[in-house]
Formats: sequence, structure tokens, C-alpha cells
Amino acid sequence: MENLKYETKSIWDKADSKQQKIMHDYAKKYIKFISENKTERECVQAVYARLQEAGFGDDLKKDKYVAVLHNKSLFAVRKGKKNLSEGFRLVTAHCDSPRLDFKQHPLLESVGIAQAKTHYYGGILKYQWLARPLALHGVVVKKDGEAVNIVIGEKASDPVFTISDLLPHLAKEHVAQTVTKAFEAEKLNLVIGHIPFPKKGKEKLESPIKLQVLKLLNKKYGIVEEDLLSAEIQVVPAGDARFVGLDQGLVGGYGQDDRICVFTALDAFLEVEKPEYTTAIMLWDKEEIGSEGTTGASSRFLEYCMQDVISAWAPKATMRQVMLAGKALSADVHAAIDPDWQELHEKLNSSTIGYGPTICKFTGSGGKYGANDAHPEYIAWLRNVFAEKEIPWQMAALGKVDHGGGGTVALFLAVYGMNTIDIGPSLIGMHSPFELSSVADIYYTKEAYKAFYGA
Ligand code: MN
Ligand code: MN
Repeated sequence: MENLKYETKSIWDKADSKQQKIMHDYAKKYIKFISENKTERECVQAVYARLQEAGFGDDLKKDKYVAVLHNKSLFAVRKGKKNLSEGFRLVTAHCDSPRLDFKQHPLLESVGIAQAKTHYYGGILKYQWLARPLALHGVVVKKDGEAVNIVIGEKASDPVFTISDLLPHLAKEHVAQTVTKAFEAEKLNLVIGHIPFPKKGKEKLESPIKLQVLKLLNKKYGIVEEDLLSAEIQVVPAGDARFVGLDQGLVGGYGQDDRICVFTALDAFLEVEKPEYTTAIMLWDKEEIGSEGTTGASSRFLEYCMQDVISAWAPKATMRQVMLAGKALSADVHAAIDPDWQELHEKLNSSTIGYGPTICKFTGSGGKYGANDAHPEYIAWLRNVFAEKEIPWQMAALGKVDHGGGGTVALFLAVYGMNTIDIGPSLIGMHSPFELSSVADIYYTKEAYKAFYGA
């Protein structure tokens, strides 16, 4: 009678010490990856370097092809044994994460402090970004086209930046406000300098602290204030990701949504060297702000790449035929039940951290609006793929129905008619500057994508 009931189980209950070591060692590599790559550009560059090392290039006459768009999105494909006209296995993930972006006129000074004004990118709880060390990552493109990469705040010898927060002594009225009212975007100003530019004699200088900041930027990067008009400077949490807990069973760090899927999908893609079907990985930008823009999932980039690949590898096949025969995983993170906010989750249909990658049949919100809603036939096929490789996984939906929701890129894949479903590890504190993932989920997410690529 045991088989009548279904129950998800913790991976840890079944993992012996040898298995735990394998998972721990894998998490170490992951920690390095997310510590070193905190923007979509850095992420795409790192992935491209690994693909190049593995023999991928821009020649479609060969079996391993990679294309990058605007340094922010990437497509790579590997020829399978079967003809492309019979379909493909595609995993997509996104490289962008919530953060604070410099405004185009960022610099100002008052009351002894120079600040940089920001505009937040993606869904954040503003108070999570206050009173903590922050780093700058970005690119400044000069008028002559030269791109200057900027990273300040990651090395131990670097200074960091911060957004100051109110002292409790003066917070009497502030604490009585609602969170939405209490934290204003225009107060998310980054402390960037304090020492004024040295003046000569009785010379009167306007904004001397800002001037000194500009002088230091000029000395280090050869840029002037006007160059910030053509710049993308991102403010992200400073420092490395870390193991969390005495048992080191969790990973804490910034940008795990969705670089945890980027990292695991890339490994899976590279590890399946002789796939039955053509395999592909697509890394998007702009997912956190609705997938718009030239490098977002609603752009035509994937389609252009597929057209090129079809012309080279299956010239007799039509785009329609190939796309309809494709199978895709929308690799993105899910919300794990937070031990302190259990009342917001409907437990029977929620993801538990450490119980394996989470499949989400539909995302969206109240009434399934904005959902892809994967077909049961496809879910059944995946169940079988995972069962054969003994991959632990769980099925969940995001939070209680009336409490919100969220979307992924699944619907942008679904427009082509290919089978598509969301699957990825669940996080505690998603979108916070220090998200938590399970060492066990990281490993088995990679194994799940690998099983999919090999199926
Ligand atoms: Mn995501
Ligand atoms: Mn997100």
C-alpha cells in the first residue's frame, strides 16, 4: 500500500558522507562563480570563456557553436546524434539580478558627504540595501568607444560603499510608517566620498568633495563626469558568497537568482558531450524587469540563433518543425518556505529547501495570470527522465494564491509551441542581498539538467 501515497523527501536523509562531500565540493565551485560574477556582463564573459575552453566557437560548420549579443545574453548549441529537425533540448536561465543602478547624473554632495544617486533594478525591499558594505561593478564607455570596466569593493584592500540608514534615536515617526512609505527610492544614495579637493589659497571651489571623487575616478580609470552618461554602473553587495550554518549545508550570497541556474545549466550542458538530441543553453538579461530590451527573453535573439543553426545543420527543415519538436526547461529559482514566514506559504504545494530542484507547472499570479502552465504530458515525460537517473525533485507553486506571485521567461519560450516548464532550486530570501540555497539542491539541479540534456 506504500506506493499509493506520494511524499517528497529531504536529499540529506539519503546522502551518505561520500555523497555529502561530492555536493559540498560542487558548492565550493559554485560559491567561487557567484562571488566573481555579479553582473550580467561578468556572467556572460565567464560563461563564454568556459565555452571557448570547451571548444565552442562562432563557426557553424562545426558541432559546437556560441553567440553573444551585446555582451549581455548568450546562446550556445551542440549538435546531437539525431537531426535537428527531430527537436532539441534547451535550458534557459537569466544572468541579471536585482540591484541598484547609478543614475546617468549620479554625483552630488552635501553636508560633508559625496553621494551617487541610484535607481533600483528589479524587485527589491529597499531597506535590505541599507547600512551594509556595497561594491561597484560596471562599464563606462568613452566617446571614442573605449569601454572601461570598473570593479571597486571586492578586494580586501579596496574601499567599499554604503547607503546610510537612520539612527533609532530619530526614527520615532519613521518606524510608524508603512514599509512602502518609509523607504523612498530617492534616499537610496550611495556614500562615495568625504575628503574635499585641495584648494589653492583663497580659491572657492564648488562641490569640492564631488570634485575629489571625480579626480580619483579620473586617476584610476581615465574618465570624466560626462563619461558617466554612457555608463552602466551597478551597486551590488560587496564580498564573497559563503557557506552558512555550522554544518555548511547552505550557501548564502548575492545574485543566486538566477546565477545558480546559469552555473548548473552550463555544467550540465558541458558534461553531456554526446547528446542524442541537439542541446542548447540560452542565457538572458533583463528577466528581473520584465524580459524587455534587446537582450531580454521577449527579444528575437533566440529565434535569430535558431534560424542560423537550422540553415547550417538542418537546411531542409522549417523553423516551425524544429521549434515545435523542441523541449525546454525555463531554469529559474523558486521560493522555499521561510521558517519565519511559513504563514505566507500553502505548505502542501510549497517548495522545501534541500528537497531537490523544484518543478513549477505554472508561475504567474492569482487566477494563473501570466502563466505558461506546462502540459501534463510533458511533466510525465520529465518524471520518467528523472526517475531513470534517480534525481530527487519536488513540485510546487509560489506562495498562497492571494498573496502574490511571480513570472519567469517560460512564456517567451512557449510562444514557439515547444514544451516548456519551470525548474530550479528554491531559495530562502529570494531577491535579498544574501539569498540562501541548499548545497544539496545546487548539486541535484545540475544533475536534473544533465538528465534532461541526455534524454
Ligand atoms: Mn529568476
Ligand atoms: Mn528574480
